[in-house]
Amino acid sequence: MPIYGYRCSKCGENFQTLVRSGETPECPSCGGVELVQQLSLIASPAKGGDSDAPSCSSVGPGPGCGGCPGGAAFG
Ligand SMILES: [Zn+2]
Repeated sequence: MPIYGYRCSKCGENFQTLVRSGETPECPSCGGVELVQQLSLIASPAKGGDSDAPSCSSVGPGPGCGGCPGGAAFG
């Protein structure tokens, strides 16, 4: 199940929640259902990166470095 980020239009609360198909998430703060989905909240908190692809700087050394040119540097 995917986790989506939302912002509540009613109280401004930002939260992340699992969304099962067919279900509508509610704001954990006020219970409102007027939510704005945040598309890239979880994907990648940009930190000066130029590339969209995952890199060592964003995922850290490890399995995620498989396709990262600089991954070997951490070895
Ligand atoms: Zn709310």
